[in-house]
Amino acid sequence: MVSVACGDEMNFLSVIESKREGGILSPQQIESFVHEFTAGKISDYQMAAMLMAIYFRGLNAQETRALTLAMRDSGDTLKFPKNKRPLVDKHSTGGVGDKVSLPLAPLLACLGFRVPMISGRSLGITGGTLDKLDAIPGFNTTLPTETIIAIVQKVGCVICGQTERMVPADKKLYALRDVTGTVPSIPLIVSSILSKKLAENLDALVLDVKFGAAAFMRTRADARKLALAMVSLGRECGVNMRAMLTEMNSPLGRSAGNWLEVKEAVECLDRRTGFQPVAPKHSEGEPVSISNFTTNMETGRMPVLRNDLRELVLACATHLLLQTGKEKSLKTAREIAERCLDSGAPRAKWDEMIVAQGADLKAFNQKLALDHTAPMVVEMKSTKAGYISHCDARLIGEVVRDLGGGRLTKESVINYDVGVDALRKPGERVNRGSILVRIHAVDRKQAAEASERLKKAFELSVKSPGAVPLIAEVIGS
Ligand code: URA
Repeated sequence: MVSVACGDEMNFLSVIESKREGGILSPQQIESFVHEFTAGKISDYQMAAMLMAIYFRGLNAQETRALTLAMRDSGDTLKFPKNKRPLVDKHSTGGVGDKVSLPLAPLLACLGFRVPMISGRSLGITGGTLDKLDAIPGFNTTLPTETIIAIVQKVGCVICGQTERMVPADKKLYALRDVTGTVPSIPLIVSSILSKKLAENLDALVLDVKFGAAAFMRTRADARKLALAMVSLGRECGVNMRAMLTEMNSPLGRSAGNWLEVKEAVECLDRRTGFQPVAPKHSEGEPVSISNFTTNMETGRMPVLRNDLRELVLACATHLLLQTGKEKSLKTAREIAERCLDSGAPRAKWDEMIVAQGADLKAFNQKLALDHTAPMVVEMKSTKAGYISHCDARLIGEVVRDLGGGRLTKESVINYDVGVDALRKPGERVNRGSILVRIHAVDRKQAAEASERLKKAFELSVKSPGAVPLIAEVIGS
């Protein structure tokens, strides 16, 4: 194919036409249009046409690599001093209730890693790590490059947003993809995710690629395709990569909503692993307002069948220990990760990290001690006994978003206090009158509407449904 540079509109038009006809673009063409689009020299309408051509025609491995590297190099990258602590991170394709990054970052720091965790915001039903952290009084997610590096070197971990100067090409391209129906394209997703992760200059990255009703990838086969493409490109670029394919038909953990998820993440670090606090008994359907709600921690506890949040946090840490050669066997790596999590050191590291990022620890602890911060809490109870056979993550994500916990558009203002907690999960037995979920809302009317919608989120069966593995497959081990 004849190489066409794209220094002006007409030349870029021929590059678009070439991709439209299924041509293969050269690395120079790709570098050139990424550079010029980032500099504002290519219009949105022309780039939108290119994105649509890529959506339909795809990119081969070399084109995807060229696009990823050009995007990575569109701005600053993090340059860390040489140090024997490996630089690692985790990326999740996102889901409902996914708060793994919060306990994972301090756990990894305590395991001897450096963790520059550059995270994103929520859109639609998918929660965003930065929005959860914004619920912490004083916490600052907008840090300049030098501060990110300094905190990682000193504390061992940081969780913050991309700086203005990091991967600006992705910011512009993603915004355009979002409004042109070109988000669900594997090469575009791969280049978007990996350009940001490569800008962190990592030694190892573990991916959590979710599949299911509330995931970006609905089927396991599509999730596998995406995971394979990312693992292979990441490795070519010098990063030790692994991917887990994890199920996202029911929410991860027992809460969804920004502050409620921070609370659950801290509980995960606090070693309260075998039990889940549940609200005291009230008559069926009775709304519970702040004035008459107190949690009885003695009687309000029930055993948990599976702590999927803890399992996933430990799985990420276990794989990174193996990927970086710190440990040789899966069994030992898992034992070391578990012992570290249970030692309480990651809980102390969490406090150190949030203070380094500006949090007011006293205000945070006071907030943590509250059962809830939303004005209204309503319990939804089961009308019959049985086993939970389905807990619909998509519907729950939509309800949390509509309570104000997520964004319908990039401009939406988030309410950090609303959401759901005390969720009962597939496989668990409930009695008539057992709490299925608590709804945290701004007022009684909103809570009642959410409660009505959430009736459809739970299905019960007489027999126990078979266990669904949380991690369906590991790619690249
Ligand atoms: N997350 C990203 O950062 N980019 C995508 O394209 C999709 C998910």
